[in-house]
Amino acid sequence: MARVYNFSAGPAVLPEEVLSSAAAEMLDYQGTGMSVMEMSHRSAAFKGIIETAEQDIRDLMNIPDNYRVLFLQGGATQQFAAIPMNLMQNKVVDYIVSGNWSKKAFKEAKLYGDARCIASSEDENFTYVPDVDGLTFSPDADYVYICQNETVYGNRYTKLPETGDIPLVSDVSSMFLSEPMDVSKYGLIYGGVQKNVGPAGVVIVIVRDDLIREDVLPFTPTIMRYKTQADAGSLSNTPPCYGIYMCGKVFKWLKGLGGLEAMQKLNEEKAAILYDYLDQSKLFSGTAKKEFRSLMNVPFVTGNPELDAKFIAEAKAAGIENIKGHRSVGGMRASIYNAMPKAGVEALVQFMDKFERENA
Ligand SMILES: *Cc1c(COP(=O)(O)O)cnc(C)c1O
Repeated sequence: MARVYNFSAGPAVLPEEVLSSAAAEMLDYQGTGMSVMEMSHRSAAFKGIIETAEQDIRDLMNIPDNYRVLFLQGGATQQFAAIPMNLMQNKVVDYIVSGNWSKKAFKEAKLYGDARCIASSEDENFTYVPDVDGLTFSPDADYVYICQNETVYGNRYTKLPETGDIPLVSDVSSMFLSEPMDVSKYGLIYGGVQKNVGPAGVVIVIVRDDLIREDVLPFTPTIMRYKTQADAGSLSNTPPCYGIYMCGKVFKWLKGLGGLEAMQKLNEEKAAILYDYLDQSKLFSGTAKKEFRSLMNVPFVTGNPELDAKFIAEAKAAGIENIKGHRSVGGMRASIYNAMPKAGVEALVQFMDKFERENA
């Protein structure tokens, strides 16, 4: 068996223990004589899986009782539509655009109402997050929307906008469970799990009770109404059963590590190894501004596209996979999610150092 160091932005690396444990249960889940893939979502065994998963994510994130946890399909992108459909009352919503994911979400929201971009960092190719202190929100805004960690540009919020009574909505796809969050500061938190939590196919929505409404935009499909899924415990229709099972295993893995404080400490250590190297390198440089650097997604360049291509090819030969950057930034991107071991980041830095010496 040859496992590589997989720096993919998503779907991405999962903890080896989690994969092994799922493999061991593949043919017979806990004496049921069947795989989780083969069982009814109404079975007692699956009920145990989804209820345990919910309790574990509640414990990990310290989710208050007045928030519901929904395990849904459709990915984060479907939430770009579901959020305005479910939350628009005045049909005025404020978006902060700090990268391509918030830009896409903003564009989608405009289909349903008066979506306003109240701040953007596009002027400098999203190398920073707009200052949230000087912002004025629309007085009748139904929510303020942010993408807290922008996967492509590798930036993250260092503090949250103070939105007062206006619910704050956050896309945390690429930083889900990477550090503790104060859930009570948000109206809704959501993320596709394939970056940091599980296999593609599940999106988790954590939403405050009062935002689960009957009076959603009238054309909202029944299946996309939060109330439908909240009332049915995410079982209104067949949920992504196997993906939820895998997320549950990752939750247990995180608990075993000591929870999100411990995970954050590890993530900070890993990111520091890479950023410290980048800061002293004469060949490579990080593209995001220091203050806003993501702990999860680290884009970097040599400034020479030919050298970037050479680096990517040689890295692959050395067992460093999926290091190519997104086309809108170019160069390289190392996604160093929860499941990327410290040894993987060390191996990357060692390889970069060797490449730098060879190509000086
Ligand atoms: C990947 C990603 C998305 C899109 O997720 P899908 O599940 O592919 O729809 C949205 N937001 C962020 C921050 C992402 O990283």
